[in-house]
Amino acid sequence: MTSNKPREEIESISPQGETSIWKGFVFNISAVILLFILGIFLGVQLNNETLINNELLTRAKSDFENIIATRKWNTQHSGVYVEKVSGVESNPYLTDPDITATNGKVYTKKNPALMTREISELLSESLGHSFRITSLNPLNPSNRPDEFEADALRSFEKGEKELVTVEQSDGKSLYRYMAPLFVENSCLSCHAKQGYRVGDVRGGISVQFDISDVVKRLKRNRYTVWALSLAISILLIVIIYTFVRRIRRSLEAANATIRKLAITDELTMLNNRRYFMKRLGEEFSRAKRYGRPISCIMLDIDFFKQVNDEHGHLEGDHVLRSIARLMEAQERNTDVVARYGGEEFVFMLPETELNEALQVAERLRKSIEASSVSLSDGTVLNLTVSLGVCSWGSEQMAATDDFHALIKEADEALYRAKENGRNRVEATGAA
Ligand code: GH3
Ligand code: MG
Ligand code: MG
Repeated sequence: MTSNKPREEIESISPQGETSIWKGFVFNISAVILLFILGIFLGVQLNNETLINNELLTRAKSDFENIIATRKWNTQHSGVYVEKVSGVESNPYLTDPDITATNGKVYTKKNPALMTREISELLSESLGHSFRITSLNPLNPSNRPDEFEADALRSFEKGEKELVTVEQSDGKSLYRYMAPLFVENSCLSCHAKQGYRVGDVRGGISVQFDISDVVKRLKRNRYTVWALSLAISILLIVIIYTFVRRIRRSLEAANATIRKLAITDELTMLNNRRYFMKRLGEEFSRAKRYGRPISCIMLDIDFFKQVNDEHGHLEGDHVLRSIARLMEAQERNTDVVARYGGEEFVFMLPETELNEALQVAERLRKSIEASSVSLSDGTVLNLTVSLGVCSWGSEQMAATDDFHALIKEADEALYRAKENGRNRVEATGAA
């Protein structure tokens, strides 16, 4: 048996595509928001990191320039002499580094390399910054380059201008910078024997300082940025989802109302003729395909014109509504009842043969005959109806595709019921 969906259920059916459109909309808008917010935060984060890296580079370069200036000053003075008090050692790599003044005080020469090292040691103690001059072939073995410095020095010989790295050492992050030192005329006085020529890469100055704190903050910043962007995205998506769901629900409610209006007769609130014909077409095809019976009942109120004439149209409307309720009470689960037009109503009974349809029609006739309708002025009306029944088995259906003929035959039976005295049931079709 095909189920005849009650009107309420039909109203709530939403077109299948609608759900996937909403889902697609929410998914797309969520993806756009996610990408947009992550993009913004990532951009800000990258920009921040670039700024910090530039700042670190500027610091390293500034250290480098300070050393160059110090060395230049020392070189311009061909080394400087300091009093050789206790703790001041002579540079073992210089020939005759010590001189004695006329007053008997001893002074020892500090060449650029030694001066650089000693200042570096001081800065390392106070600021944690350190720098040193190294070359691939140093005079002093303690100036031998480490791995980073050796790589940098080799890259300078190939034309690189500077090299930067961040190294992990003893749980600390060290920012390391190195730039080349070129041979100038003034260098040759001491370094000519190493085979240098003016303009050659004589070595390099490497600068390093502790950036553990900066690295830690950057890491924390990164986590915060990701967490924030994710939280904001989720919040926005939830807001949009809730908003869309609300719109969707109110649209669905509006659609349901529209669908209900489209299939309902506004006076009696029964199904309208359009809906009835659509359902009849569907049930007819199904009955024909499976060789099942189907019946139709046409019902017309007897002498209804008199009601209008004697009590007015508004009372007539009230009577139509009352009769509609009586018919609804007789409607079985699989039946479809509708207002066909005026004071005519129609029943479709799928899977129902003539005998059973006649019983339904008779029950209907009797229930209306037994009821009365009270009007607003207190008048009580006893009404009767005439009914025409038509039932088709597989033979009739095989002969035609036009289900309108079923209605036509029920209408003809109804005409006969009127002719034969009203308040009765007449039938056509196979028993
Ligand atoms: P019969 O027994 O032969 O059916 O007689 P009848 O008076 O019922 O039939 P007739 O076709 O002469 O009159 C039907 C009347 O129904 C005429 C029309 O004014 C009335 N009618 C049709 N639609 C409505 C409606 O929506 N409201 C009201 N109040 N009357 C309606
Ligand atoms: Mg009529
Ligand atoms: Mg009538």
